[in-house]
Amino acid sequence: MRRRSVWKAAFGLRRAVVEDVVVDGEVLVVSVRPTARERDRCPRCRRRCPGYDLGEGRRRWRTLDVGTMFAYLEADAPRVYCKRHGVLVAAVPWARHDAGFTRPFEDQVAWLAVRTSKTAVAELLRIAWRTVGWICERVSNEAVATRDLLAGLTRVGLDEISIRKGQRYVTVVVDHDTGLLVWAHPGRDRKTVEKFLDLLGPERCGQLELVSCDDAEWITRPSSERCPNAVICLDPFHIVKAATDALDEIRRETWNEARRVGNRQLAAELRGARFALWKNAGNLTDRQQLKLARIQQINKRLYRADLICQQLRQIYRASPEDGLALLDAWLKWARRCRLKPFVKVARRITQQRARVEAAFTNQLSNARAEQVNTQLRPITRRAFGFHSPHAAIALAMLALGGLCPPLPRR
Ligand SMILES: [Zn+2]
Repeated sequence: MRRRSVWKAAFGLRRAVVEDVVVDGEVLVVSVRPTARERDRCPRCRRRCPGYDLGEGRRRWRTLDVGTMFAYLEADAPRVYCKRHGVLVAAVPWARHDAGFTRPFEDQVAWLAVRTSKTAVAELLRIAWRTVGWICERVSNEAVATRDLLAGLTRVGLDEISIRKGQRYVTVVVDHDTGLLVWAHPGRDRKTVEKFLDLLGPERCGQLELVSCDDAEWITRPSSERCPNAVICLDPFHIVKAATDALDEIRRETWNEARRVGNRQLAAELRGARFALWKNAGNLTDRQQLKLARIQQINKRLYRADLICQQLRQIYRASPEDGLALLDAWLKWARRCRLKPFVKVARRITQQRARVEAAFTNQLSNARAEQVNTQLRPITRRAFGFHSPHAAIALAMLALGGLCPPLPRR
């Protein structure tokens, strides 16, 4: 093999010619040019266009390291004039438009960003975390543009997530059949939901059979107006969460009460109990089970609250017929339990009865919605350092929308 073809193979270069390879200080620089067929193309539409000028001369694209060395591709970056898109730097086969990195490099960044920690990606690849955000956005946008994620949707869940502490919110749409995130957009209001419905178009809106959501009007109103064949369900996830929050409230009350009366032992026992109470009974560690047993001894009220909460979770695991009967029994219990937060949850369910029932009859499981929601949270937390909510959305789409590219050549 000749030296040039070795480099071409090593960098996974296709439709390009290697001209030269030099070591420039600490970095390896590979001079390349697109093959004749790839020259003078518009980066947007890939159409062949007349040349405009030489642009800003030669340019470098960071590519995968060679051993311990930084490596760059270097090439001319002339501009072309496209009738539809105007004057733009000509497309190159090894990189996305407007990127300072090659495709294999960006694909690797996206792959790692989805799977590893912030510091691991940044240190391993020697780039800033903010840069990771830009790359995720480019990779995700390209994948979204080439795929029809909204095809064949029949059962969807609409929800909101926060992507920065209490500040920015994003509306997300999950396909209940595949469990994939299919759409996300900054904002949590009627306009944002309408944006999704516009994108879906009237025909596909008509194909929706089920829309599950919180009892928020900004989702339910436009959904019922624009999707004539869809049943609106109250998402089991939100009901179970409301009960979990109620349990938390009682735990806090009990703890504060214990401190007020100076019951140090009880206060100490309860301090670490939040996690134990929050988890499903089946997933508790021995220590947490022991803690729960202690709480049972020292505080009947809190234990009762825990039972009520667990029972509601169980109801959503039952068959639709059993579930509805169990729900009635649960509502009676919760209404009379003298635990205010649970009385409130019971009232909310009663008010939204038809939509709660629809979730049962349509066999909408809580598990999938909860799964997506619990996966989204750490991803959005990791996206805190990104430049915009769009980068956070991009990372979420890569991770949960099935858009993450494979590692180069795999
Ligand atoms: Zn064009």
